[in-house]
Amino acid sequence: MKKKMIRAIALLALVAATVRGQAPAAKAERVTVIRAGALIDGTGGGPRKNQLIFVRGNRIEKVADATAQIPPDTAVIDLSSATVLPGLIDSHTHIFLWGEDPAKGGYDENILKAGIALRAARATFACRRALEQGFTTLRDLETEGAGYGDIEIKEAIEEGTIPGPRIFGATRAISTTGGYNLEGYAPELDMPKGAQLVDGPVEARKAARQQLEHGADWIKVYMTHRSWVDKEGKLVSQPTLTLEELKAVVDETHGWGKKVACHAYNGIGLQRALDGGCDSIEHGLEITDAQIAQMARQGTWYCPTISPYYGDWAPENTPGGKRDRARAAVHEVSFKKALNAHLKIVFGTDMGGMPWTESIAQEFKRMVGLGMTPMDAIESATSRAADMLDMKGEIGVVAPGAFADIVAVTGDPQKDVGVLEQVRFVMKDGAVFKNELAK
Ligand SMILES: [Zn+2]
Repeated sequence: MKKKMIRAIALLALVAATVRGQAPAAKAERVTVIRAGALIDGTGGGPRKNQLIFVRGNRIEKVADATAQIPPDTAVIDLSSATVLPGLIDSHTHIFLWGEDPAKGGYDENILKAGIALRAARATFACRRALEQGFTTLRDLETEGAGYGDIEIKEAIEEGTIPGPRIFGATRAISTTGGYNLEGYAPELDMPKGAQLVDGPVEARKAARQQLEHGADWIKVYMTHRSWVDKEGKLVSQPTLTLEELKAVVDETHGWGKKVACHAYNGIGLQRALDGGCDSIEHGLEITDAQIAQMARQGTWYCPTISPYYGDWAPENTPGGKRDRARAAVHEVSFKKALNAHLKIVFGTDMGGMPWTESIAQEFKRMVGLGMTPMDAIESATSRAADMLDMKGEIGVVAPGAFADIVAVTGDPQKDVGVLEQVRFVMKDGAVFKNELAK
């Protein structure tokens, strides 16, 4: 029975490969040459002038200087007036979130007023928006009550049904009772929650197993939830999972060869995240010197998300207003500490928390404004993020063997990192998605 099934599956796979192979077979051989005025390859080296990028099928075949021979009948894309870079990577997004503007009902509206089809349509829009802006890869850190929708949107992109970036999805995310929205409703009501809530190591491990079974590329855990300012004016955040609960999740996830991203603002929850062996700290608004040292020792990735903490502030001198201002203030300090300690910082925006109509690349200005060099900021959104995603050499670089995810801007991002907010050319997987520079 088993053998028969295996044979049947093998046959099916063969048929599928043949069917799929028909059109792309010719395409795979097609060579396109991109003429780059300047090339920033994503690995931190300075821009190289007048380069030729040879793309065969969906991969970069070679990169050469402008004297290299271009075979006759080769399609040439002229970006000689532009700066060419690898496709950008946003390591913290929510394609299923449609903003959290309190004036528009805040977070809760996402779940209470939108059915799954509307949410899927919005996620489709978000993916297109990301790609248009040159973000060819997203690590999407939970669907906020939309189940395994991220993995299905990813399938739709991979089968060519809709345009969009490469997606590394975290599916439902994990928190504890009292550790996630929706909250504040009558206790008699059984409200839906934006994350999978667990209590105890057994439930924690089971949730990780369920999410991994259904295709999660990463597991996302909320290690802190509510935050407020105490009498001394210090930011405090409520811890959620215990160390034992987190360790169960991390142990299970690592066994599957996958990684764990921990949302953690500060304090006890952040400490448990580090002691529990999480792979990336998300937001990390306030990190002590000892915690910075622990992150360096453990090789923990740091994904700050600066931009969203500057929007939607509650009025000054209200509890919410104080908290909002404290969050932004401590985040700046932590970012600078992380920079000085050479932590592995990756670019993240929490898009979705901010409306998808906003610029993703605005985060570059925030990072550079706090002392990061433009080239370091670019690395955080290219090769360094690729490394975190276990995709080193495959994405986040313009180099032989990598997927042909390539973008271009006019101007020099080293002089003005703001030019990254105007991506004019996007190629993903060897196919041109957008070209405003065509002559
Ligand atoms: Zn987030």
